[in-house]
Amino acid sequence: ERRWKQVRRILRNLAWCSATTAAKLWDVANELACDMEAGKKDGGNNIRLLVSYLAPLPTGDEKGTYYGINLRGTNFLILRARLQGKNEPVTELHKQEIAIPTAIMANADSTRELCDLIGLELSKFISQHSETDNEAQTRERKLGFTVSYPINEDPASSGIASKWNRLSVDDTVGKELVAEINEAFKKHGVDMRVFAVVNDTVGDLAGGRYYSKETVAAVSLGMGTNVSYIESPEQVLNEPSNPAETVINMEWGNFNSFNLPLTEYDTSLDAESLDPGNRIFEKLISGMYLGEIVRRVLLKMAQEAALFGDSVPPKLTIPYSLRSPDMAAMHQDTSEDYEVVEEKLKEIFDINDSTPMAREIVTEICDIVAERGARLVGAGIVGIVKKMGRVENRKSVITIEGGLYDHYRIFRNYLHSSVWEILGDEHSDNVIIEHSHGGSGAGSIFLAASQTHKN
Ligand code: ADP
Repeated sequence: ERRWKQVRRILRNLAWCSATTAAKLWDVANELACDMEAGKKDGGNNIRLLVSYLAPLPTGDEKGTYYGINLRGTNFLILRARLQGKNEPVTELHKQEIAIPTAIMANADSTRELCDLIGLELSKFISQHSETDNEAQTRERKLGFTVSYPINEDPASSGIASKWNRLSVDDTVGKELVAEINEAFKKHGVDMRVFAVVNDTVGDLAGGRYYSKETVAAVSLGMGTNVSYIESPEQVLNEPSNPAETVINMEWGNFNSFNLPLTEYDTSLDAESLDPGNRIFEKLISGMYLGEIVRRVLLKMAQEAALFGDSVPPKLTIPYSLRSPDMAAMHQDTSEDYEVVEEKLKEIFDINDSTPMAREIVTEICDIVAERGARLVGAGIVGIVKKMGRVENRKSVITIEGGLYDHYRIFRNYLHSSVWEILGDEHSDNVIIEHSHGGSGAGSIFLAASQTHKN
């Protein structure tokens, strides 16, 4: 009947505007590569390149017990693990999450209090988790420090976190943090020193490098998205004697291009966001936004084609009410009558009488939105490898970390297959995508391992 025709029309239009042909993905990849080149010279474009780390990365031979701190928006993780050298798995991984009190979080000037808390909790952690590694007692303990910059819906609650937004090697804010942490360690009798505070993707890159010398970039794909890569890897990889490596944190979420397949839903999402016109790439690919795009399509279908009956379900009008784990659950529903979709529609939007046909439409929308996002990530990865001049003749390993990649199977599959599709049979073996090791925050441990070179 008429309303299904209208639903189908909206769906077709969405698919049409979201299309990511291989040619289009190449355009995106080339443009990102160009922007990276330009960003290096004058910084006057839409992606931001920050030199974040100038020191050796792990070689993979490191052995011993290492510590890490991963500072996140509302909490921090203390980590400890034992590395056993080449090709051996990480063992004895311990993680503890500590909440940061609101009073500290909301205040941008509370660095000292925050560091004091970190020092205190770390000293407790060390005394609670004894080291089985005999050598660890005789060696100085090593600690890596990473920061995950959180995406915040409410900027008021993120006073302190927003300070660590753009850490670079010559950054005064980062130096202040390093000094305060070392001070706090002294005060609490923690026998460690922090050398650098870096973005968590730099830690992931260190982790990738520990497992493979060919690792050239680390991508985080969770609520938000970010990338770190090694500048001039040719030089670095050909010259193992060169100890320092230049790691760039590229805020690729800021990437924008006329080639991005934007729909009316993206345009309105962006216009109503806290930072219109910014982070367009991120708004197409990251976990924070995928569900919201789907919700906007559903709302249009409810309003213009009575997808869920004659009245529009009120909860469907609430922004960001559909989160990506729920979207993934609906998308991956393989039951005959889409029972998971039915359940989720009830739970999230109070929709109690969805028809099987409407539920099928929901999964199709999820598919279009996830496929586009994942394929754009694939194009971004190819763009980075292209910029490094490694597509044709070198193997490149890209390590990926983050909840979206970890848990959204179909998204992950689309991402992998897009890279194969873009590169074709001839070159696709040159780009290897690996899941990061040790999970969220574990990069800090590998960063600690890099420090052994210094001694
Ligand atoms: P961060 O919030 O620092 O990015 P994570 O890397 O753990 O932390 O990613 C969490 C994000 O991953 C969630 O906000 C969500 O967007 C996404 N995510 C988590 N689980 C799932 C899932 N099952 N399906 C789809 N996306 C998920």
